[in-house]
Amino acid sequence: MYDGLTGRYTFACPVRDQVRVPLSSFRTIEELPGAAHPAVYKITFACACGDEHEGLVAHDELDWAPLGGSDSSFFNLMTARFEAVAPELVDHAVRRIQAGEWPWSFFCYPEERPRPAFPSSFRVLAPAEDAVGVAVRCPACARTSVNVVSRSHVDVPFYNDRRVRVVEHIFAADIEATVAAFRAELDSGAFDARRVDLGP
Ligand SMILES: [Zn+2]
Ligand SMILES: [Zn+2]
Repeated sequence: MYDGLTGRYTFACPVRDQVRVPLSSFRTIEELPGAAHPAVYKITFACACGDEHEGLVAHDELDWAPLGGSDSSFFNLMTARFEAVAPELVDHAVRRIQAGEWPWSFFCYPEERPRPAFPSSFRVLAPAEDAVGVAVRCPACARTSVNVVSRSHVDVPFYNDRRVRVVEHIFAADIEATVAAFRAELDSGAFDARRVDLGP
């Protein structure tokens, strides 16, 4: 499903059979009720065919596959065996997280501070010129903030924009209303955003 070499997720397209899309082409991410282990997310994505389609992504695929890189193998000189790359890279990612570096972060507007996040915290993404608007449900305070960030900020784990734009608006707890309002605002380009520092 996730290809570490290209940093893309594979989904079905009725026109092109299979397509590979980066996280920044996702449009909505919604946890399906019921399936807990692992949780399953229903996503919609903007397809190269011009349409939007739905897909399903398991929680580990959504949050951890980008940190594990490709599923190819490498030759381990220490053990003289071919071994999977992914566990090594996930270990590496875990160490970076323990050292206080986060693969994804955003600016929580209600809390007025940067917060770490995972893609499963993203709710809505919308293209905005050469950037992406992301509605993130804060893992700490459970409220939703909208940041406007670079595509790399979304697509490349551990790459974080030093400065992002935050939309100065407290969104309703009702996620459906938030989604509708957010998409309408981004489509009209009429949102008020302020630049804030994310990085140290
Ligand atoms: Zn398509
Ligand atoms: Zn928060």
